[in-house]
Amino acid sequence: MSYPPARNFIDGHFVDGSAEPLDVICPLDGLVLSQVEMSTPDDLDQAVSSASNAFSEWSTRTIKERSQVFYNYRSLLQANLEELASLIHQENGKTLSESTAEIQKAIEVTEFACSLPQITAGEVLEVSPGVECRVAHEPLGVVASITPFNFPSMVPHWTIPIAITLGNSFILKPSEQVPLSAGRTAELLQQAGLPDGVFNVVNGDRRVVEAICDHPQISAVTFVGSTAVASQVYTRATGKLKRALAMGGAKNHLVVLPDADVSQTATNVVESMSGCAGQRCMAAATMISVGSCDNIIEAVCEKARSIVVGRDVGAVISRTAKERIEQYITEAEQAGATILVDGRSAAVPEHEGGFYVGPTVIDHVTPEMRIAREEVFGPVLAIVRAKDLDAAIEIENASPYGNAAAVYTRDINSARSVIQNSSAGMVGVNIGVPVPREPFGFGGWNDSRFGAGDITGKSSIGFWTQSKKITSRWN
Ligand code: NAD
Repeated sequence: MSYPPARNFIDGHFVDGSAEPLDVICPLDGLVLSQVEMSTPDDLDQAVSSASNAFSEWSTRTIKERSQVFYNYRSLLQANLEELASLIHQENGKTLSESTAEIQKAIEVTEFACSLPQITAGEVLEVSPGVECRVAHEPLGVVASITPFNFPSMVPHWTIPIAITLGNSFILKPSEQVPLSAGRTAELLQQAGLPDGVFNVVNGDRRVVEAICDHPQISAVTFVGSTAVASQVYTRATGKLKRALAMGGAKNHLVVLPDADVSQTATNVVESMSGCAGQRCMAAATMISVGSCDNIIEAVCEKARSIVVGRDVGAVISRTAKERIEQYITEAEQAGATILVDGRSAAVPEHEGGFYVGPTVIDHVTPEMRIAREEVFGPVLAIVRAKDLDAAIEIENASPYGNAAAVYTRDINSARSVIQNSSAGMVGVNIGVPVPREPFGFGGWNDSRFGAGDITGKSSIGFWTQSKKITSRWN
């Protein structure tokens, strides 16, 4: 075992969870990396009472003072970048450079949080002679975030710096598959000067998630994960009259037109589908080839074949995930699709126990096939052929998801048509992973998100605060 067990972090201390621990498996070699102490609803209660006590003092500080902690924290993320990236690499299986990029994105959101005093200055207007109306953004209280395995640090950082700078105290429930980064986040926040109890970590599974949704002292919950669980969490939390935002799964379509730049498109499509071993909610799942794009498809295959598994693409999270992804490929083949590049036999020397799937390209997929409809969450690109752009957009919009869509073309009218007509929250033009950078918010549509607003950027301010309207007259 390479790391000490991941423990809960409550009131500034690491403490044991009360439920049976689980092994944490390193996807790179399939060996036990650590353990995670699992929790019960009683453990959550302790975290909530610690957060609730801390809120009384933290929320009375000025936002300028609160943001100072995150200036310090940003420097600590930068100073510890290598070690934090190595931890993500080990617990998640993505490459070191992808792990480094994940911390850089966490830094970017932290910088956005540092700018909140400027953005949330509030509004004031003299509404009648001598009468002034002012709007202030007040924190909610104790809030919680439940996060997935695919970004052990970046996704928790979508919410931690923003919610806490805005004056809330916070409980993180990380994925039990990647619980180690959360402990380092707790240590670095403490080192940055965050008072004990403002940030807490409770490890656990469904039981803890349900207890978070039900807890009367938790005011707001964000969730990021699969659509099935997102809808359950959203329904349960709002049923308990909480504010909730639940980001779900995805099935992102890239529409490729024959006039697209061949080399740039091929490189970008393959990076989108294979980056983080396809385990990104922004990954390309389906390429819709409009008309005749055979030269682009050929270039896509060439690029996919050039990728070295273990060096350019990391492992998928578990043996179960590897088997599920390979099953999708096999089923597509049996349903009549053509496997142009096959990643099923991928192996990495000296990492024989690792969970690797190589980039896979499958042509002549039809929209009815399971691989075209369901989220595979692996480095697999299904190519669907469409006669024209309208047909392509129709295929794309038939998906119940709506995270991202992209179009590759040199023609502005074709691009506009996809921008206007695709039913997705984030659209890329010649960009296959159209993640909005700060201060723009991250958020999909349809079954990729339940609740209003985006999880980052300016729209997240409304989620983490309540506005107080003060009308004053001074004679
Ligand atoms: P998941 O839904 O299995 O787990 C997410 C979280 O929910 C974890 O903390 C887990 O412990 C908990 N959980 C799991 N099953 C639960 C249940 N039945 N009841 C209550 N809680 C439960 O997701 P995952 O496999 O960790 O992550 C991959 C998924 O996340 C993919 O579908 C991906 O598209 C999605 N994702 C979406 C976004 C987005 O912004 N839309 C971002 C990242 C990942």
